[in-house]
Amino acid sequence: MTVYSGPVFDMAAKQFAIIADHLSIPLDERDRLLLPKRAVTVSCPIRRDDGTVMVFEGYRVQHLLTRGPTKGGTRFAPTVGLGEVAALAIWMSWKCALVGLPYGGAKGGVSVDPSAISKRELEALSRRYMQEMIPFVGPHTDVMAPDMGTNEQIMAWFMDTYSMHYGHTVMEIVTGKPLSAGGTLGRREATGRGVAYLAKRVLNDLAINLNGATAVVQGFGNVGSFAALELHRYGVKVIAVSDHTGALYSASGLDIPDLFRHAERHGSLAGYSSELQYDPRAVLTLACDVLVPAAIERVIDGDIAKRLRCRVLAEAANGPTTPEADLVLEQRRDEIFLIPDILCNAGGVVVSYFEWVQDLQQLFWEENEVTQRECQILDRAFDQVVTRARRDNVAHRTAASAIGVERVRAAKTVRGLFP
Ligand code: GLU
Repeated sequence: MTVYSGPVFDMAAKQFAIIADHLSIPLDERDRLLLPKRAVTVSCPIRRDDGTVMVFEGYRVQHLLTRGPTKGGTRFAPTVGLGEVAALAIWMSWKCALVGLPYGGAKGGVSVDPSAISKRELEALSRRYMQEMIPFVGPHTDVMAPDMGTNEQIMAWFMDTYSMHYGHTVMEIVTGKPLSAGGTLGRREATGRGVAYLAKRVLNDLAINLNGATAVVQGFGNVGSFAALELHRYGVKVIAVSDHTGALYSASGLDIPDLFRHAERHGSLAGYSSELQYDPRAVLTLACDVLVPAAIERVIDGDIAKRLRCRVLAEAANGPTTPEADLVLEQRRDEIFLIPDILCNAGGVVVSYFEWVQDLQQLFWEENEVTQRECQILDRAFDQVVTRARRDNVAHRTAASAIGVERVRAAKTVRGLFP
């Protein structure tokens, strides 16, 4: 038991134990790799619109300080807790190491339903959260970014709050900002674009024609919507999408650009069409070429894994597949090509890294340079994962995490144990 124990942290710990066994890491070295270096809990009081005061609980976990500043998103959701944030921070560490970024993993969040408070309250909460975090973060200490329930506007408020404190603009304190506040071209699209790019690569390798291929996207937030849009642009037929309000299905393919505009305007898929309504629970097990879980953790359990009918599982969310489901996927390795989360959704943090570099240098890039470099990094990591999986005869997830963990371990070993 640790202070982090709970379903999501336990899952990250279980996955790590599998990798540690695979890499024959001695038992006495394991806690040093797995347990977060720092965790902060803060109380964020705000004045509600009705004049009352309400306190929200906020968290930030910095998992690994060995490879550079820590990096990771901030999540605003009612379910956010210390254990979930810690697990997500751990996954960020393996992810950053896998794609070769000079970062350790972090994650933060506030336990709040952002859609249940007013815009003024959301701004007050965002600013107060950053204010409480000022002693613990910094451009060379810990750099935040968006995650579920947060967006460019919230990143702008974070940056402004930090900057007001220091008396000058510090753009490099957070990534995923609007362009007008030091953001980079291509960040908003980066995660979904990377997911679609890797899925396309696998379809090509499997000799499945993009034109006529089908996809299902579960989750239609920033990641899912851009993944769907990009797949649609490649000629893939997106036959179903879902979000927390429901699901839509069309055998002949949904009009994704239209759906995208609807979600942008209304904040969700709700109200788009009553004829296309579909059972959201049945979305994951639809027959398709590419399945993109782009919502929350642990949606694919052992039972669903047995019933999956996709050729490619492109994990856009963090931790969508449980270790029990992994055992099933392992049996089905020839049927289902897994692009594991820390590879599949790494485009987001890769372009966050580009944003940080541009802010530090005050030298900004063209969008095609951003996208080209993102794809280059994803291609390299993809090659390494597939080669490693083949060499060791292991699942893609094991190969990806093993590369990440190995790099973290190498950095810890060479730096030594202080004192
Ligand atoms: N929240 C995103 C992730 O889980 C992005 C993190 C970042 O850009 O720093 O990868």
